[in-house]
Amino acid sequence: MLDADFFRRWMTAAAAAVDREAERLTALDSAIGDADHGSNLQRGFAAVTAVLEKDAPQTPGAVLTLAGRQLISTVGGASGPLYGTLLRRTGKALGEAAEVDEEQFAVALRTGVDAVMALGGAAPGDKTMVDALVPAVDALGEGFGAARTAAEQGAEATVPLQARKGRASYLGERSIGHQDPGATSSALLIAALVEADDE
Ligand code: ADP
Ligand code: MG
Ligand code: MG
Repeated sequence: MLDADFFRRWMTAAAAAVDREAERLTALDSAIGDADHGSNLQRGFAAVTAVLEKDAPQTPGAVLTLAGRQLISTVGGASGPLYGTLLRRTGKALGEAAEVDEEQFAVALRTGVDAVMALGGAAPGDKTMVDALVPAVDALGEGFGAARTAAEQGAEATVPLQARKGRASYLGERSIGHQDPGATSSALLIAALVEADDE
């Protein structure tokens, strides 16, 4: 079973991964965006870990809704409202249970990913975070490790695509040949589940 501590560890591991990979995320965003994806997420996830320590939410749902709200209020770029919505809607779908099983989490995360697609209007293949998140949720029934692999493959598969959403879409065909920054950070977020589970 997954309790509030598991979800807190998830957010802590995500924040550490974003710190570790911030330069790479910003370099990817400098190729097809405005070179701020790493710093956007560093600021956002640092604020998430701080508020989780301060407020100590006691249920999985409360941890994720608080984290999501914090991302929305601290990250100005497109990724803030999108990741914020992902976590907030996933948290809402978990309700008030003290513990959830992996299947309940998979169902809830699907709700969150659907909300990201509704908010941003992106579908798989548009070269966005959705290209990592959808395969991850599809694989989550086979475990966190399978979801991580699927997300990483989804992120790598954005390289030959032309962006149809977000800033990168302004480049048209020039967006081809670069990995999408948001799909890359989504793979980090999903990989952080494996780390949270190992601890
Ligand atoms: P900004 O583009 O506003 O500077 P970021 O650099 O933090 O924001 O995030 C860029 C990432 O956000 C992109 O690489 C892409 O994955 C994701 N993104 C942008 N627009 C959308 C959208 N409409 N739907 C889904 N993801 C999107
Ligand atoms: Mg950017
Ligand atoms: Mg920006």
